[in-house]
Amino acid sequence: MNIEVSRRGLLMAAGVGGAATALGALGFSAAEAAEAAHVRAYKLARTTETRNTCPYCSVACGVIIYSKGDLRKGERADITHIEGDADHPTNRGTLCPKGAALKDFVLSESRLRHPMIRKPGSDKFERVSWDRALDRVARLMKDDRDKNFVAKNKNGVTVNRWTTVGFLAASATTSETAYLTYKVVRGAGVLPFDNQARV
Ligand code: SF4
Repeated sequence: MNIEVSRRGLLMAAGVGGAATALGALGFSAAEAAEAAHVRAYKLARTTETRNTCPYCSVACGVIIYSKGDLRKGERADITHIEGDADHPTNRGTLCPKGAALKDFVLSESRLRHPMIRKPGSDKFERVSWDRALDRVARLMKDDRDKNFVAKNKNGVTVNRWTTVGFLAASATTSETAYLTYKVVRGAGVLPFDNQARV
């Protein structure tokens, strides 16, 4: 069989053959395999990105939460990584040490995940449903306000104060949530009002 090889093709074939021989002599394939064995898999591969807000302080930096597991398929989504959101106008991807350690906070064994109640005389907390917790809080607030609300001061001036209850809100909320929280709390007459960023 007559095989026609161009001058350029012949030079390329000779070059590849020569390089393979030289690398083989240097043990390159073994080194490459050893190197590949030490390369970690890309940790963000096949993860779901969810944008959120750092809950620690009122700077409210944007974060991206990476998770594995598809909730739509009934799988559990485990958080594998959290980092600053480079597109967020507040922090442009940066996080302070507290925000940078957010994953440990989210996955902490001691994190409070459910409403808990300690009954009078008991020495332990018990888990209760959100409905029960909210009903209980609403009942206590209503009873206390009915009992202690001050509509007028001693000079007959309308003041509408409820001074026996304080309200601690979350700082890392949207502007709309913060606005509504403020309106509800001040509308009820509560004076002591702060958020967790200053605790
Ligand atoms: S704690 Fe740090 S990362 Fe979190 S919102 Fe405040 S400044 Fe940003």
